[in-house]
Amino acid sequence: MSTPNLLMIPGPIGLSSDVLRALSEPQRGHLDPVFMQSFSRALKRLREVFVAPGAQPFIVSGSGTLAMEMSVANLIQPGDKALVVNTGYFSDRIATMLELHGAQVTHVKAEPGDVASLGDVERALSSTSFKLMTVTHVDTSTAVLAPVKELAALAKKYGALVVVDGVCSVGGEALEMDAWGVDVAFTASQKALGAPPGLAVLLASPRAMEAWKARTKPVAAMYLDFAQWLPIQQAYEAGTPSYFATPAVNLIMALEVSLGELVAETMPVRIARHQTLARAARAAWSALGLVSLTHRPEVTAHTLSALKYPAGVDASLVKHVAAQGVNIAGGLHPALKATYFRVGHMGAATGGTVLETVGALERGLSASGYRFDAGVGVAAAQRALTA
Ligand SMILES: *Cc1c(COP(=O)(O)O)cnc(C)c1O
Repeated sequence: MSTPNLLMIPGPIGLSSDVLRALSEPQRGHLDPVFMQSFSRALKRLREVFVAPGAQPFIVSGSGTLAMEMSVANLIQPGDKALVVNTGYFSDRIATMLELHGAQVTHVKAEPGDVASLGDVERALSSTSFKLMTVTHVDTSTAVLAPVKELAALAKKYGALVVVDGVCSVGGEALEMDAWGVDVAFTASQKALGAPPGLAVLLASPRAMEAWKARTKPVAAMYLDFAQWLPIQQAYEAGTPSYFATPAVNLIMALEVSLGELVAETMPVRIARHQTLARAARAAWSALGLVSLTHRPEVTAHTLSALKYPAGVDASLVKHVAAQGVNIAGGLHPALKATYFRVGHMGAATGGTVLETVGALERGLSASGYRFDAGVGVAAAQRALTA
């Protein structure tokens, strides 16, 4: 079997050896006591990772998109109004879901690469009564980081529930769900949580659970309904099994191990590590003359970079870099797709993997005909890492 490339795309990401080992365990049944304990610990660890001691965690087979649709299906009834702080591709996706579930959607948009001002969001919030507001914490299509804390405070002021798409942020960007008043935050196993793809992860605040209980119409999709999943999550957390739909035993056991690594590192240390790696990556980009798609450093994610192709370089760069042993990703934002590429630096990423990535990018840029002093990117990243 060939060794796969170093995976520096915005998810799935490389797995730690302990997570890999958990995946190679013999199959256990979903009622196996070892699995029950593992599921229980995973749920408890999620409260630490989301800094949400009061929240109800859900782990369901599916991807981040399923978690997104669970948030919408359980909170929205036809006719409800929803405000989408729209920063790109994944904000468009949640808006589409909101409409499918009967919501009237208002967007507050900015140019691609930026996020609407707090003033613009407040004007929208004050214009009518919204049931909820959604924020994409890190828009993976553009690497825009939204100011969730400030946005959540505004939504609270106007009585709207706050739903945060944390798929590319949780485990890499600061998010304090309880303290910031976030009502639903969700992610997927394969991004900054550092587990394989296949699990949707969602935490709901007591206020969100109240809003769900206060529904007058049933949730129109059985697999998405909190009513099906709440007793299951509660039973497993208490160490007693219960069945609705077969849980992804192996993936949950792997997630439990990766969450254990997050909790052991502690969230503040992990967030600081992502900031250090982002600083090193940004130093490399600017030494190489590469320009970020985001407009300002304050709205730039620490979990990935989105960079414009320099003059004369096109999407074949991604293949040239892959030939050097590192996988990066092409563009995703529909309007700009062909003009930029993306590099993930989250989860188990280290100073070593960032340097390896910058080195492979330099060789790929050189193969694409881009002229620069070989080694300037690596040197700049190394200086930032040793500062
Ligand atoms: C990846 C991603 C999603 C979708 O997650 P899937 O696991 O691919 O379904 C949603 N939102 C954001 C911000 C993402 O990065």
